[in-house]
Amino acid sequence: MKTLISGAGFAGLSTAINLSRAGHDITIVERAPYIRDTGAPLDIRGKAITVAEAMGILPALEASRAGLSENMTIVDANGSEIAPLPGDDVSDSVDDIEIERPDLVQIMLEHLGENVDVIYNDSIETIDDRGKSVGVEFVSGRRESFDLVVGADGVHSLTRRLVFGPETQFRQFLGMYIALARVPSGTVSDRHAKTYSWPDHMVSMAPYGGHVTAAMYFRQEWLDYDYHDPSAQKQLALEELAGHDEWLIPIVRNAIEADPDFYFDSVNQVHMDTYHRGRVVLVGDAGYCPSPLSGRGLSLAMLGASHLAQALSDYPWELERALNTYETVQRPHVVRAQDTAADGGDLLVPATQEELDKRNARLRAAQSA
Ligand SMILES: Cc1cc2nc3c(=O)[nH]c(=O)nc-3n(C[C@H](O)[C@H](O)[C@H](O)COP(=O)(O)OP(=O)(O)OC[C@H]3O[C@@H](n4cnc5c(N)ncnc54)[C@H](O)[C@@H]3O)c2cc1C
Repeated sequence: MKTLISGAGFAGLSTAINLSRAGHDITIVERAPYIRDTGAPLDIRGKAITVAEAMGILPALEASRAGLSENMTIVDANGSEIAPLPGDDVSDSVDDIEIERPDLVQIMLEHLGENVDVIYNDSIETIDDRGKSVGVEFVSGRRESFDLVVGADGVHSLTRRLVFGPETQFRQFLGMYIALARVPSGTVSDRHAKTYSWPDHMVSMAPYGGHVTAAMYFRQEWLDYDYHDPSAQKQLALEELAGHDEWLIPIVRNAIEADPDFYFDSVNQVHMDTYHRGRVVLVGDAGYCPSPLSGRGLSLAMLGASHLAQALSDYPWELERALNTYETVQRPHVVRAQDTAADGGDLLVPATQEELDKRNARLRAAQSA
């Protein structure tokens, strides 16, 4: 099958590995000039480990285990320890693998088959599903026909918008924003992950792969801002820190101001009645983002890629049946992952001082039990 995958994130790369192993001819089109690999490490959990084994990447993942899983410590405004923040709450088993993003990108790229082409700096412009094939025109002007188009272009998916409708139909905003900034080297000597909260806000500092990343979640109503203007996004994050000079917040502020690769987004889930229409199908955050609060987006994307490949190989001549099967098998995993996000939000970002105090007391008690 001649297949186009829009997006070279982990959903797109996983889909390419699975489908190329099944003999598809794959083109991946990635809008960015390179695969972005900044951000917090990721956990591969539960059934996604079996998927990784089938993809042939498990030994490489094992060899690159990040080993950062020591619990993050909650600190007060002076930096004094309150209690450990339990990472175990979201783990499926001790076999879960935590991995740094650059390592995972490298491993997935190395396992793309020879029948996979990756085109950077381009994007789909139009999709014309003609029934027997899909005509695609790219922003670069190139035109090509495919048997199948896989939208793996993330929570703000263009493929979804072009084929299924505007984002607002499917996006469920969880009332929170996330920001990530790399801390200039030499600024923080503490090599332990720490987090500090005040009502509606959580800020953390964590060392990943030789550098320290500042992360921030804050609860806020829906904000209208320009997604393509990093300085507007930085301003929104900085406003939330205004008047806070306790703990390491001045360093977080400086990191946000200085980081050219600053990451900012609303925290969303994607809920869809169907993951496919005609010859176009969605995988990963594009179709069923569980939100970063679930810690399961990668595992869900890897499972989705594997379920799609399995269904296509089970019903090679019946596309509709294959895509229905993919959806039926994948949906229970989506529901479970999406259900975990609310607990993640309550744990990380208590909304009131009372909830914050209760959380801290609970975690202190758990520590001394
Ligand atoms: C801070 C943070 C922490 C996380 N922690 C975890 C964790 O511990 N465990 C876990 O399982 N998940 C975690 N996740 C979620 C996880 O990263 C994603 O859910 C998972 O990687 C699947 O992403 P994706 O490939 O579907 O989308 P994305 O990672 O968003 O990738 C989409 C790709 O499509 C490209 N693209 C976008 N538009 C276009 C276009 N028009 N044309 C071509 N290309 C396009 C983008 O450039 C990008 O490369 C976390 C996410 C964040 C933000």
